[in-house]
Amino acid sequence: MEKPVIITVAITGSVPRKTDNPAVPVTPSEQIESTQECYEAGASLVHIHVRNPDESPGSDPALFARVQEGVRKYCPGMIIQFSTGGRGREQAARGAMLSLRPDMASLATGSVNFPTSVYENPPDFVENLARTMLDNGVKAEVEVFDLAMLYNAANLVRKGLLSPAPHVQFVMGIANALPARRSIFDFLRAELEMLLPEATWVAAGIGRHQWEVNQWCLQEGGHCRTGLEDNTRFDQTRLAASNAELVRKIADDCGKYNRRPASPIEARQILNLRRVA
Ligand code: ZN
Repeated sequence: MEKPVIITVAITGSVPRKTDNPAVPVTPSEQIESTQECYEAGASLVHIHVRNPDESPGSDPALFARVQEGVRKYCPGMIIQFSTGGRGREQAARGAMLSLRPDMASLATGSVNFPTSVYENPPDFVENLARTMLDNGVKAEVEVFDLAMLYNAANLVRKGLLSPAPHVQFVMGIANALPARRSIFDFLRAELEMLLPEATWVAAGIGRHQWEVNQWCLQEGGHCRTGLEDNTRFDQTRLAASNAELVRKIADDCGKYNRRPASPIEARQILNLRRVA
């Protein structure tokens, strides 16, 4: 029996496209169109950042609302996840769009260095964000950028601020944070199994590690994340033409690992999310 894999696509991210891949969608209509292509290629979860009209990272709930509305219309059942990530955004603004009640939102459970900055998530800020998600019925995807964040997530569960079955993402390959090493991947999975046996998991490989980490996840029964947020290059030699191209690469290779892309309905069951009409 092929085991379904939830393919997450992170369509945009928060690095301005000026020097970057022109295929990155930045306006709400570009984002909706790109998401629909990914949905048709097998993605069942979309991770969303928004951009201001000048393409800088945005936090305006109205922008999130427009993208959410379009994705709901053109990608029925697809799981919508908003980023509460910090790059370019004031802390107070990072949870402002949770009142729109997306299915999910990302939650980094600690601070870490990024290539040229500090990604700051103080304990009280993390707890407040977790509480706001609970209040709005938004499921958290725990972002593990560094080892302590896994144990912090388990503490949040103990405090009742996080479901005992969170979706956990290991983010590997960011300079100054966790390297994309197989031994670390195996260790993180084993620790998660011990700490939060009901959790589901996914790993993201950044940059040239993206495809390698996708393969590890397919092999080990986890879920996959791809998209131009994490990787503007399809491989070492050329730029990816689109988010959908990256999704298709996973969908096409699933069979080799006895996997198949989860439908949105299956993905919602796996993550214990509400069904949509
Ligand atoms: Zn993101």
